[in-house]
Amino acid sequence: MNEKTAVDRLKEELFYKTKHISKVQTPEELASAGSYCEGYKAFLSAAKTEREAVREAVKMAKERGFAPYRAGQPLKEGDRVYLNNRGKALILAVIGSETPDRGLSIAAAHVDSPRIDLKPNPLYEAGELCYFDTHYYGGIKKYQWTAVPLALYGVVVRKDGASVRVAVGDDPGDPVFCVTDLLPHLSSEQMNKKGTELIKGEAMDILIGSRPFRSDEGSELCKLNIMNILHEKYGITEADFQSAELEAVPAGPCRDVGWDRSMLGGYGHDDRVCAYPALTALFELEKPRYTALVVLADKEETGSEGVSGMQSDFLPHFIEELADAAGVKSRYVYERALCLSADVNAAFDPLYPEVVESRNCPELNHGVVLTKYTGSRGKSGTSDASAETMGKFRALMDGNSVLWQVGELGRVDAGGGGTVAKYLANMNIETVDLGVPVLSMHSPFEVVAKADVHMAHRAFSALLSRGS
Ligand code: MN
Ligand code: MN
Repeated sequence: MNEKTAVDRLKEELFYKTKHISKVQTPEELASAGSYCEGYKAFLSAAKTEREAVREAVKMAKERGFAPYRAGQPLKEGDRVYLNNRGKALILAVIGSETPDRGLSIAAAHVDSPRIDLKPNPLYEAGELCYFDTHYYGGIKKYQWTAVPLALYGVVVRKDGASVRVAVGDDPGDPVFCVTDLLPHLSSEQMNKKGTELIKGEAMDILIGSRPFRSDEGSELCKLNIMNILHEKYGITEADFQSAELEAVPAGPCRDVGWDRSMLGGYGHDDRVCAYPALTALFELEKPRYTALVVLADKEETGSEGVSGMQSDFLPHFIEELADAAGVKSRYVYERALCLSADVNAAFDPLYPEVVESRNCPELNHGVVLTKYTGSRGKSGTSDASAETMGKFRALMDGNSVLWQVGELGRVDAGGGGTVAKYLANMNIETVDLGVPVLSMHSPFEVVAKADVHMAHRAFSALLSRGS
């Protein structure tokens, strides 16, 4: 044995180094990540908004023996129930053999993503073209959202109380919509502006028509033509937009990326790339030791406020129901629960190395990211998991052959962000963030590695089946 080998060995023993997935998995295992991701591709392509994600998740859950939870119903080992929070958030549970004060496992993801929402009075005509006026939702770089095809999803509650679902732009026969942008030839003034001012919020309006109603003379005939089409299709009038939630999102399905097809590109990986692995991990459980929950929350991208957001009491109320059904005190359920806040982190992008610090930046294909804390300006606004919590999850991941890495969201003071972790931790639930590294986060086309998505499924399985 020469000196170099001894040094190398000692380094291997003493130093921390993340591993590339291809160093720990066989080509067969990597191929199985590919087939797992076919299911995810279909889910992501169908679940374009929080409502559509909840709809898809409920459909999948019903096919796998889950039934709606009825208030106060008795619960026994192996029961599979779900609680649909107003069509925009969801809790799914598989009841364990132990009472929940002995342990509860929670994976909490969010199913809303940045997008462009319609204003309450959105329809107008200008220059003989027809538009929807909008107010963007979540943190976006507005210039990325112009000149790309958009689909429209949501509901309109009509004056007669009927609720109409809108889903246009993702079927091959559907029309799409778009936000127009200036041509380069006339953009000299625009291109000299700061990035944040390149596209004004009020210039994010969506082009929806250009033909006037018949050949009549008069004003607003283009708007009349569109309103007439909408009336025929949905039975709505302009006033019905006041009681509507309509969301414009990038049109088109999730696609393979790269010659090697190792990645997936699509809209809304943040955070459905965690929601789907958490769901599929839960579906595979039969009789877990601890009751296992998957929470799909809404409104994370705007601060988790509101009845369908993680700051609402919908989860604590459900945990109280679980406690009541088992005849135990809910405070002990919170205290003994273990939660993965299932959310994405920013992957290392070699084109922009300056915004991260490489030793603490997650990389594509290096497995799921355990994010001890988020926040900004000196860890403000984060729950910051303790050494003990990190220790528990480290053992859980290592014990289940999960390839994982630690990660921070960017360089200190480069910016920052948050997740639902702190709202769960505030309930006295031990929580840390775990998720998939993402490139181009919050853009219309986010990119993840298939192997990391598959690894997220393994990580959530490890949590939800722990102790079994
Ligand atoms: Mn986000
Ligand atoms: Mn997120």
